[in-house]
Amino acid sequence: MRGAESLEAALAPRLAEQRARVRYRQRHTTRGVGPRVHRDGRDWLNVCSNDYLGLAGDPRLADALAEGARRFGVGGGASHLVCGHSEAHEMLERRLAAWTGCERALLFSSGYQANLGVISALLGRGDIALHDRLNHASLLDGTRLAGARLERFAHGDAAACEARLAALESERRRLVISDGVFSMDGDCADLNALATHCERHDAWLMIDDAHGLGVLGERGAGTCDAQGLAPGRVPILVGTLGKALGTHGAFVAGSETLIEALIQFARPYVYTTSLSPALAWATLTSLDVVRDEPERRDHLQALVARFRQHGAGLAEVGLSPMPSMTPIQPLLITQHGEGANEATALALAQALEARAIWCSAIRPPTVPVGSARLRITLSAAHELADVDRLCEALYDAARQVIGQGGAAMPQRAPA
Ligand SMILES: *Cc1c(COP(=O)(O)O)cnc(C)c1O
Repeated sequence: MRGAESLEAALAPRLAEQRARVRYRQRHTTRGVGPRVHRDGRDWLNVCSNDYLGLAGDPRLADALAEGARRFGVGGGASHLVCGHSEAHEMLERRLAAWTGCERALLFSSGYQANLGVISALLGRGDIALHDRLNHASLLDGTRLAGARLERFAHGDAAACEARLAALESERRRLVISDGVFSMDGDCADLNALATHCERHDAWLMIDDAHGLGVLGERGAGTCDAQGLAPGRVPILVGTLGKALGTHGAFVAGSETLIEALIQFARPYVYTTSLSPALAWATLTSLDVVRDEPERRDHLQALVARFRQHGAGLAEVGLSPMPSMTPIQPLLITQHGEGANEATALALAQALEARAIWCSAIRPPTVPVGSARLRITLSAAHELADVDRLCEALYDAARQVIGQGGAAMPQRAPA
């Protein structure tokens, strides 16, 4: 062997660089889930989970999970195509299809796998995947796996998408891909405009609504529901079960033909053990809650409104609220220079930690360079008083860390 590099020698400098760039990531071990968790020997107000409806810790889901495990099994035992497709999976797929207004739905083990599976089944070398610039990483990885050509349009700019489609008119297969609700910004794609452009240019449309489902729309059926799109105008809809629905896994909804094709050709579907049937059973209970307890969504909207009202002055202390009306409420750090923003984000997260508030700093490459932020997420399990406590802590932390001082929290509105 000629000068082979050892594993340790290969990895150590990469880790050191990660540290030097203030991008080193660490996990914290928790007990409990939801707005109040236990970690490092104390209780925290948690404002960074995706448990938007507060279902991940709901005892009704825990009971359904136990019942599902006894009736259908803890594990699937095999892939769906061999012998791992249980009655619980089948029932959940039918419910998801009805909920989204699509002909069929297909379960995947995670949203990450669903996105790899769909894109790699639909596109091949030379085909075009046209992405919103802020799409989730799994959509980019799916495009890479497919070997398709990656094209991008400016974030949230449906007109720019149409211009790209017009320029790519001669290509045979063009798949437009967008998040429904953008995971790090909290804003929504204009699905009507994207659907119209795709229809006009004979392009295919895929929407990943991981953060919209369960949260937006009168029935909680997501961004399509909220924007009044007729079923079928988004021919390829991806949803996840691990966020608002509080369990784990994902699904793709669409036509009979789409789902049959995915069953045949989506390798991340074919070559993996089926989702736990107990989880599939528990997710049916999540869907009952989404249908029967719209007050959870109403409360969540009230929390968002309270945060936007009380957080409006944060821009004056160097933390800019972004234009989001969803439970994802990022605060952009408005200092400048790579490294500075990341370090400030971390220092702010630490200042919040000193106040027993857990909000992880989001840094590149999860977000574009220079746009490090605190990504605050609200949950129906929070109370209005939690939002007030959070806002007060944010003003204090920003004054302490960024030091621009001055701005006071706006007058508190009556509860
Ligand atoms: C979380 C997320 C995923 C991944 O889903 P998992 O089930 O957690 O693997 C995919 N797309 C978007 C937009 C997400 O936010």
